Formats: sequence, structure tokens, C-alpha cells
Amino acid sequence: MRRFTYIAPTSREDAFSAFAAAGEGARWVAGGTNIYDLMKLDIERPAHLIDVTAIEGLDAIETGGEMLRFGTNARMADVAANETILRDYPVLSESLWKAASQQLRNMATVGANLLQRTRCLYFRNGAGGASGGAVIYPCNRREPGSGCAAIGGIDRGQAVLGASANCTAVSPGDWPVALTAMDAQVELAGPQGARAIPIAELYRLPGETPQIEFTLGDGEMITGISVPKTRAGRRSTYHKVRDRESYAFALASAAVALDMDGDTIRKAHVALGGVATVPWRSPEAEAVLAGKPLTEGLAEKAARAAFAEAKAGKLNGYKIDLGIRTLVDALSIAAERNS
Ligand SMILES: Cc1cc2nc3c(=O)[nH]c(=O)nc-3n(C[C@H](O)[C@H](O)[C@H](O)COP(=O)(O)OP(=O)(O)OC[C@H]3O[C@@H](n4cnc5c(N)ncnc54)[C@H](O)[C@@H]3O)c2cc1C
Repeated sequence: MRRFTYIAPTSREDAFSAFAAAGEGARWVAGGTNIYDLMKLDIERPAHLIDVTAIEGLDAIETGGEMLRFGTNARMADVAANETILRDYPVLSESLWKAASQQLRNMATVGANLLQRTRCLYFRNGAGGASGGAVIYPCNRREPGSGCAAIGGIDRGQAVLGASANCTAVSPGDWPVALTAMDAQVELAGPQGARAIPIAELYRLPGETPQIEFTLGDGEMITGISVPKTRAGRRSTYHKVRDRESYAFALASAAVALDMDGDTIRKAHVALGGVATVPWRSPEAEAVLAGKPLTEGLAEKAARAAFAEAKAGKLNGYKIDLGIRTLVDALSIAAERNS
């Protein structure tokens, strides 16, 4: 057990001051369901934890304004069960209630969910746990420059889109995939002030520096997430395929929302999960679907376009077929919903 300090400030100002004073090794913590897990595995080694959940005003769920808005500390369970979200944006609700377990969703927050780290076997098992702290596997994400044991290793769970020669780890979250499809913005605040970025800009492809996963500045925190309201929300779904029907991460998933005029798609929102190194928007699939009546043939053409650039390793080739079928099914589920 490594020693660390813990404090829970109640204002943003106190939180930023505490972060700056703590210096090297300071980290935010919210529900703790990811960071504590990784501390026990000796993968995360913060010297100072600053809890954001006591900060006032960061847990609101707002559905009445021009945008949907979720404070970073809103709990996954509360957003999933919100009546407006359930009715008008099933893609958002489903992405949350199909994630983790009820106990975890009661603890975990919607802002920190965006920053959870990969479940890649080699990233998680290479240190700590049963090995008693000894490093077994190289992992560029955990130990930059050490190599990637997943490439040529047991790669059944690895990404087929967005991978590099240095890392093939899948982006694990469901909620970020739904938010990506729905053009969400992530609200950030830091010592330099506040800003908002499209969710796609929060994530970095692994490239040559897989250890740098997010674009947050030093000491910056997520304060909220906003989602533009759209009539496509009602005809939406988050379709998730996994090894078992609950309490498992996605092998393949698709977030879809359709703005339709009769049988014709005006605009489609499509993002993929479980198959890529970042939440994966598919403009290719969206372009195939736009302006056409949805048929099974068109859905398949769009899904094939989404995976046209996919590259498989030894054991994860099934993800391409599975991903295509998951997207085809998601399109048909969304289209059948009442607007
Ligand atoms: C057994 C298990 C199964 C799971 N299954 C799924 C699943 O199927 N699908 C899925 O999507 N997720 C799943 N999860 C992951 C879970 O959803 C995340 O652990 C959770 O959402 C993280 O939220 P948290 O508040 O607990 O984050 P924390 O663990 O507190 O923090 C996570 C990260 O965010 C940082 N952070 C926290 N708050 C802020 C902030 N305001 N600003 C900036 N940085 C911040 C922390 O420093 C840390 O790096 C599972 C987790 C477990 C343990």
C-alpha cells in the first residue's frame, strides 16, 4: 500500500488551490470506482487525492433548457433513470444502465466516466494483483516505451479501429460513445479559466504516445457535459453486445439516433464502442444513410462503410463482423422507435 493524502474541498476555488499546492502526484477522485481499483493494482500511484464530489453545484441534471446538461458529479444511476432522458434520449439512458452494476452506477459519476482507463488485459494485469507488484507484461500505456504485449498476444478484446503499432487498447466506456453520437460538449475548468470542447477532442488516438489518453490540461477538471437537444433523440438506441448480458464491457456496441421524415433518414448519428481505441464516430456510415429510406440493405452498406478501415490481429477479427451486425441491429431498433 502506497501512502497518499485525501481531502474533499467544497468549492472549486479551494479544489484548484489544493491541486496546485499538492504539486506532483495530485489527482482528482470522484466515485473512485476506477481510480481506487487501479491504485490497488499499483497502476495509478497518486500521492494526493482531491475529491471533487463535495464541490457544490456540480451534480445537477438539467433537461429544461436549450441543451441537456449534466454536472460532472451527477451519478450514472440518476441520469439513467431521469424521466426525460428515458423518454426523449434512450441512447443516453441505455448507455448508462447497460454499464457496470447498479451499485457501481450509484457511486460512479458521469464526468469521471469519460476518463476511465482501458480494461486491456495487459494494461491491467501487468502490475500488482496476483503478481504482487512485479511487472509481467510490457505495456506502452502503463510504461511508455516498454512495448505492447497485446500485439501478437491474446488480442481477442483489442481494437480493430484507431489502433497503432504501439497500442491496440479499447476505449472501455459506453456513455462516451452515446455522447459522441449526440455531439456532446465537455465543460472544463482549470486555473486558466473555463472552456468547452466537443467530446471527440477529449480523446487522443494512441499513435506513438498511448500513455497520453486525454487532452485535459494540468489541474483541469471536468465540470459538466452538455448535449444539444434534437428530435433524433427519441429514435435512438445504445445497442451493446458482450460476453454476458449484464456487468460486462462491450465487445461491440453502436449508438444510433435517427432524424427521419417518414421512412427517409434526414440525418443519422452513429458512433461505435468496444471496437476502437477512442469513442468512434462514423461519418462514413452517416453519409451512406443520409437522405435515403432505411432498408436492411442500406443498413448493411452503412455498417460495412463504418468498418471499411478496420484491421484485425490474431483473435479479434470477429469484432469486424460483430460490429457490423451490431450497427445493423441498432439502426433497426432506433428506426422502430416512435418519434
Ligand atoms: C467491475 C466494473 C465493471 C464496469 N463496467 C462498466 C461497463 O460495462 N461500462 C462502462 O462504461 N463502465 C464500466 N465500469 C467503469 C465505471 O463506469 C467507471 O469506473 C466509472 O464511471 C468512473 O466514475 P467514478 O466517478 O467512479 O470515477 P473515479 O474512479 O473517481 O475517477 C476516474 C478518473 O477520472 C478522474 N476524475 C474524477 N473526477 C474528475 C473530474 N471532475 N475532472 C477531471 N478528472 C476527474 C480521476 O482522477 C480518474 O482518473 C465498470 C467498473 C467496474 C469496477
